[in-house]
Order: sequence, then C-alpha cells, then structure tokens
Amino acid sequence: MSQTLKFLGRGSAFNKSEVNNCAYFKKGSVLVIIDCGNGVLDAIKKSGIMKGVKKVYQIITHCHNDHVADLPAFFDYCNDELKIKPNLLNTISLQGGKVEKLGLKEGRDFKFVEPLSKNFKWVNVLLVPHAKDMDTCALEINFDNKKIFYSSDCSNIPFDIPNYDEYYLDCSESGNKIHMDIKKVKEIIKKNKIKKQQVFLMHIESQRMLDIAKEEGLKVVETVVSPERNKVQNIKKELKTEVSKENKKQKDNEK
Ligand SMILES: [Zn+2]
Ligand SMILES: [Zn+2]
Repeated sequence: MSQTLKFLGRGSAFNKSEVNNCAYFKKGSVLVIIDCGNGVLDAIKKSGIMKGVKKVYQIITHCHNDHVADLPAFFDYCNDELKIKPNLLNTISLQGGKVEKLGLKEGRDFKFVEPLSKNFKWVNVLLVPHAKDMDTCALEINFDNKKIFYSSDCSNIPFDIPNYDEYYLDCSESGNKIHMDIKKVKEIIKKNKIKKQQVFLMHIESQRMLDIAKEEGLKVVETVVSPERNKVQNIKKELKTEVSKENKKQKDNEK
C-alpha cells in the first residue's frame, strides 16, 4: 500500500537531522498542509510544491513549537512572495489567543476557515490527549477516495478507529507520557484490526526509532526531500567552500 499523504518532514522536536513532522496533499491548485514546524519553509522551497498553487489551507494540530515554528515565515512567504492569502483551519487547538501570540493577525496574514465548511470538506477534527496542558487535533481526512486517520501528536487514541484505509501514527522511541510508543501503537493496531501495511509511522525521534519500526515490520513515512539528500547537499556545499578557499590560498601563494 503506498502512502497517500506526502511529507516535507517526519522529525520530532528533538530530532536534529530531520525537518519537523509536516504532511500535505494537493488537489489541483489547492494545497492542504498539516503543521509548520522547524525546517518546513526551507523544505517547501526546496521541494517546489508551491508550483501552480493558488489556494493554501493550513491546519495546525496543536501549538507546540515543532508544529508552529515556521508558520509566521510561511504566511509571510505566501502573502509577500506568492501573493496568496492563506486560509487557516479554525480548530479548537488555536483557541485562547494562540495565533496572536505567534504575531499573526486574521485578515492581515490569513483568513480563518471552519472545519467541514462549504469550502473545506476534506478534514474532520477529532480531539485526542497529548501533553498535560495541551490536547491536540487528530484528523480524519477524506482525500483521493481514501479515508485517512492522522493521529498528530498524542499519548493515546481513546476511541475506536476502525475502517480507515490508511493510518498515520506518531510513535516515540522512549515511550514518554505525551507520545505513543511502539507498544501502544501495536495495541491500537490490534484493537482496531488494522493491517500493518495500512500503517505509516511519523514524528520520529531518532535512527533507533527507524530500526524499531523495521523490526516490527512497520513502515515509516517517506519525505519528498529525503534527509539524505539534504545532508548530501550540505556536505557538497561545505566541500565547495573548502575547495574555493584552497584555490584562493594557492593563488595568493603564486602571487
Ligand atoms: Zn506536541
Ligand atoms: Zn510534535
């Protein structure tokens, strides 16, 4: 089973070698993007996903930094460079002035759109527990004739989730209290009679988590710009500057 949602990043807050978890899907000239943490704007530019986009719907599952850090810059990019006023899904996780705290203002920087409104029927929001002071929005996505469950960051899924075509589940190596660990994920798979090939793990902390997924026969989401390609590009850049420094030195010596 192939992965319907595309990903710009799949890293957790503490994963320094991958872009923060960020999924998206495109329908014609419409882009729907889920979360916007560290590294996302760079990945957006690198991947070229904005080509042909005329309408943007941004969903924020919750306001932890690894899900909102790049949001103000992305909205600036939409408004100033692309001349698109982004739409922001008005979910419960944004209540209490959280958007304003990021320096964003409705009308000036974005327009609110209500979940399941006339213009936006793809996504239904389901509240799930996460941190002590913060619940998060799991998402039920109807796209490309598929019914998709997206856990966002959660410590548990306290209701049944049978009959989805694909499941995107966050999974933490350490099994801390605010994220599901592999044991919890396996419980949920069993309880809801989900097939392993329907599951895609995301919000990955480390290389070790990739190994655990492999041992369990579970897939991890793939990203459009691979972490390896990013690394290779960075190494090439470093090499280039080293080489040009060397060349300069040589020329200076020849003088
Ligand atoms: Zn979180
Ligand atoms: Zn997170």
